[in-house]
Amino acid sequence: MDYDVVIAGGGPGGSSAACYLARHGAKVLVLDKEKFPREKVCGDGIAPRAVRTLYSMGLRDRLEGNFNKFHGFVFSGGGRYYVKSKIPPTTNFPDHGYIIRRLDLDKILLDFARENGAEVWEGHEVTAPLVKDGRVFGVKALHEGKEMEITAGAVIGADGVHSVLASSMGLLVNNPVHLGLTLRQYFEGVNDIGDYLEIYPDKSISPACGWVFPVTETVANVGVGAMLYHVRKKNISLKRSMEKFIREAKHVAPKLEGATPISTCRGGLIRVGLGASKFECPGLLLVGEAASVTNPISGEGITYALETGEMAAAHLLDNVSSSGEFRHNPAANPFRDKLMERYNSYFSKGTMCIKRYYKPLFMDILLTAVNLRKDYRDYMIRALMYLRH
Ligand SMILES: Cc1cc2nc3c(=O)[nH]c(=O)nc-3n(C[C@H](O)[C@H](O)[C@H](O)COP(=O)(O)OP(=O)(O)OC[C@H]3O[C@@H](n4cnc5c(N)ncnc54)[C@H](O)[C@@H]3O)c2cc1C
Repeated sequence: MDYDVVIAGGGPGGSSAACYLARHGAKVLVLDKEKFPREKVCGDGIAPRAVRTLYSMGLRDRLEGNFNKFHGFVFSGGGRYYVKSKIPPTTNFPDHGYIIRRLDLDKILLDFARENGAEVWEGHEVTAPLVKDGRVFGVKALHEGKEMEITAGAVIGADGVHSVLASSMGLLVNNPVHLGLTLRQYFEGVNDIGDYLEIYPDKSISPACGWVFPVTETVANVGVGAMLYHVRKKNISLKRSMEKFIREAKHVAPKLEGATPISTCRGGLIRVGLGASKFECPGLLLVGEAASVTNPISGEGITYALETGEMAAAHLLDNVSSSGEFRHNPAANPFRDKLMERYNSYFSKGTMCIKRYYKPLFMDILLTAVNLRKDYRDYMIRALMYLRH
C-alpha cells in the first residue's frame, strides 16, 4: 500500500482532513488537479463557524490583519425594511467572519496541510477510483498525460460538487431540491462598503437571492443564486437575474453605480442540505460539497467542508484504534450516522423553510418582525449561520 489515506481534492475539505490526519501521524497524500493558487467560484464569505475551525487549526495568525473581517449582516427584500445587525456574541463562536478570496484561502489551507506533514501533488487529476470487490482501495490519476495508480488504506473524496469519485461509485444524487445554481463577479469602485455581509432576497429577482460581500474597502464579490427547482419551474435565467440585481435591486443599484467589473461572471452548482450525495461506500468517505454538506439556507459550505474533513479524518483514525487499519467499512461503522447526527436536524428544517417560505411576501413579514427587536435579529443570525454546537 502506497499511503494510509489518499485525498482527492485540496479545497477546504481535503486540506482540513489532510492536516488532521498528518498531525496524527498518518501517511497522507492530497491530489488536486489544479496548481495553487487557483480560483474557485465562491462568495468568499468565511462565516464565524468556519473561523472557529480555522483558528482552532492554528491559522489565526495568517488571517488576522491580512484580510477583511465582517462583523454583521444586512438583509433587505427590497420592501420597507432594511435590517442591519451585528453578529451576536456567543461563548462558542467568534464575533466576526472574513471575506477571503478562495485564491488566497485555499492556498493558505493547502500549504498548512503540507507544513503539517501531508504530501501534496498539485496538477494531478483523479480520474477514477481503484475498486476491488466493491471496495475502493486507491485512485487512478493523470499528470501531464501520464496515468498512475495510487493505493491506500482509505480514500477521502474531497473533490467538490462534481466529484469524480462519488460519481464513479454512484453516490451523487441529482435532486433539484438539494441543488442550487449561482453566479458571481468581482467589482471595483463599489460605494458604501462596510464590514457587513449583505444578503438581498430582493423581490426584483425573487426567487433568486443576491449578495454583496466586501473583499476590500472598494472591491466586492457580487452574486446571485437560486435553487434548481425554482430555476426550472419559473424558467429563470440567472444571467438576467444578475443584471437586474445590479441595476434594479433597491439597495444594491446605488452601491454598484459606476463600479467596474474586474473579473468574468462565473457560475457554479452547489449541493446543499445533505440530500445530493450518499456520503460513503466501502473504502471511500465523502466530505464537503461532494457530500452535499452545504447550508441549505445560506449556501455557505466552507464551514462544513472544514468540519467534515476533520470528522472523516477522525473517523479513519478511530478505525485504526479499533481494528489497526484505516480501511473504511460503512456497514460496521457508518460515517453517515455522524453526519446525520451533527447536521440533519438543522439542514432538513432549513431545506423545508426555503422550499415553503422563500417568497417576497414572507420575506417582508420576516424582516419587519426581526426589525422590531434586537433579540429577534440575533436569533435570525444565529439560525442562518448555525451558531450552535
Ligand atoms: C457561487 C458560489 C458562492 C459560494 N459562496 C460561498 C460563501 O460565501 N461561503 C461559503 O462558505 N461557501 C460558499 N459556497 C460554497 C463553497 O464554495 C463550497 O461549499 C466549498 O468550496 C466546498 O469545499 P470542498 O473542499 O468540499 O470543495 P471545493 O472547494 O470545490 O474543492 C474541491 C477541490 O477538488 C479539486 N478537484 C476536483 N475534481 C478533482 C479531480 N478529479 N482530481 C483532483 N482534484 C480535483 C478542485 O480543483 C478543488 O481544489 C459558494 C459556492 C458557489 C458556487
